[in-house]
Amino acid sequence: MSKIPYPALALLVLVSSGLTQTPGTAVNTSPEVTISVYDYAHVSAKTLAAAESDARRIFRQAGVETVWVTCLPKPERIQLKGCYLVEATHLTLKILPHAISVQARDRDDVLGYALVDEKGAGFYAYAFYDRVQRVAEERQLGHTLLGDVLAHEIGHLLLESKSHAISGIMSAHWNGDELRRISEGTMFFTPS
Ligand SMILES: [Zn+2]
Repeated sequence: MSKIPYPALALLVLVSSGLTQTPGTAVNTSPEVTISVYDYAHVSAKTLAAAESDARRIFRQAGVETVWVTCLPKPERIQLKGCYLVEATHLTLKILPHAISVQARDRDDVLGYALVDEKGAGFYAYAFYDRVQRVAEERQLGHTLLGDVLAHEIGHLLLESKSHAISGIMSAHWNGDELRRISEGTMFFTPS
C-alpha cells in the first residue's frame, strides 16, 4: 500500500515554521499565507472571486488560512506594498491567457504551473486560463475547476515540492473520479 504522501499536518508545520521566523509577528494559531493575484487573462470578477473562495476553503480544510490580494487589475484601494512582497508566506499567482512554460506547451492537458527550484523553494504559481476554461466547459465544472487548479499550483509552493500525490488535490492527473469530486467541491489535500 502506498502511504498518503502529503497529510495536512505537513502543510501546517511547513507554513507555521515560516511564520515563526518572522520577527515581530503576532502569535497566530492558524498559519496564514497571502497570495497576490495577477489576472492577465481578464477572468470575470465573479468567476475569480468564486474560484478564490473555493481555493480558500480547500486550504482551510488543510489548516491554512489564505488571504487573496488583487494586484491586477488594480483595486480601488491600491495595495502596492502587499503586491511587491514575495516570501514563504506571501506568494504570487498569475492567471495567464495561454500556457507559457516549455513543459506545458507540448502537453495540452497541463492547466497550470508552479515554479519550484531543485531545493524546493518557489513563490510563483501560474494558471493557464484558456485550458482551464476549455476543460471546465467540456466537463461542466464552472469556477470550481479554476479554484482547484489554483489550490494545486499554490499547493506545490507550500509543500516545497513538484511531486504529486496518488489522490486528492495534489494528484497529477484529473480524470473521472477527480473531476466528479471537483464538481462536488470535495477535492482536498487529504482524501476524505
Ligand atoms: Zn502539479
